[in-house]
Amino acid sequence: MYQKILLAVDLSSHAELLCQKAAEMAELHQASLSVISVVEPIVSDSAFDTMPPLPVDFDDLRLQSLRERLQQLGAKYGIRAEQRFLEIGVPKREICRKASDLVSDLIIVGSHGRHGVELLLGSTANAVLHHAQCDVLAVRIHK
Ligand code: AMP
Repeated sequence: MYQKILLAVDLSSHAELLCQKAAEMAELHQASLSVISVVEPIVSDSAFDTMPPLPVDFDDLRLQSLRERLQQLGAKYGIRAEQRFLEIGVPKREICRKASDLVSDLIIVGSHGRHGVELLLGSTANAVLHHAQCDVLAVRIHK
């Protein structure tokens, strides 16, 4: 039986499916469920001036909207507020770090995320599978 499940979502359209599966797994195992979403910082390089500059508060607005989305999903699928994590960094690293911090015994990821379904397994999912210290469940995301 799993006791501490960590769900990783990139807040794309697949997030609902992943939340539903994770909530079912948690219920089945009587486990606690946490969710993490990792925001990758946008690095702008002034050497490339083909794109108009981003508004100064762009990152704040992006973070705010992602935070709201995560809160909505958490509330809908019964994930407690203190178990919803929005982190900034490299997704694979932050997911594995959070799983270690929480002593999770299962990480749930989607087989694919925002980057498309060309590969057998997405790059984040693949990296988590290789680096996690616990079991990893990849939920199949169809095209
Ligand atoms: P990818 O490997 O990027 O195609 O995404 C596969 C899965 O990894 C997604 O369905 C999520 O479960 C997880 N994932 C990808 N990016 C993130 C992210 N930024 N934050 C949290 N989980 C993510």
